[in-house]
Amino acid sequence: MRTEGTDTVLYCGHKESERGSITVGYGVDKDGKAHCYACCLKEDLRFMRRVGRCTAYLSEDSRKITTWPGEVISDKVLILSKGRDSFGGERTYFRFMFDGQVWSGFGMGPGMYLRAKRTKIKSLYA
Ligand SMILES: [Zn+2]
Repeated sequence: MRTEGTDTVLYCGHKESERGSITVGYGVDKDGKAHCYACCLKEDLRFMRRVGRCTAYLSEDSRKITTWPGEVISDKVLILSKGRDSFGGERTYFRFMFDGQVWSGFGMGPGMYLRAKRTKIKSLYA
């Protein structure tokens, strides 16, 4: 279920984004300032380019890497393997393309949190 965001203007100067069933219409940065999803995504991407690391989410169909509210970071995802870790949790290893570079990481499965980092691998299938 999605409802309209409010007319509140956020710190970034934009209105609140559309609300999802589990998300409010904005993100909050480390200083507690609210930003719309587009600005959150921009900031996430800037961080990825600068630092070469990211925390994000694997979409429910395992075909996209997204931010928490579902903004798409990459739609070129290759699932390498799925398995269980020694604690019985699910672990999914994958690669994805971002900015023409291959990133690799692992997460807890579809719809779940993941960690990834930039690699020097030349292609998803290398
Ligand atoms: Zn904004």
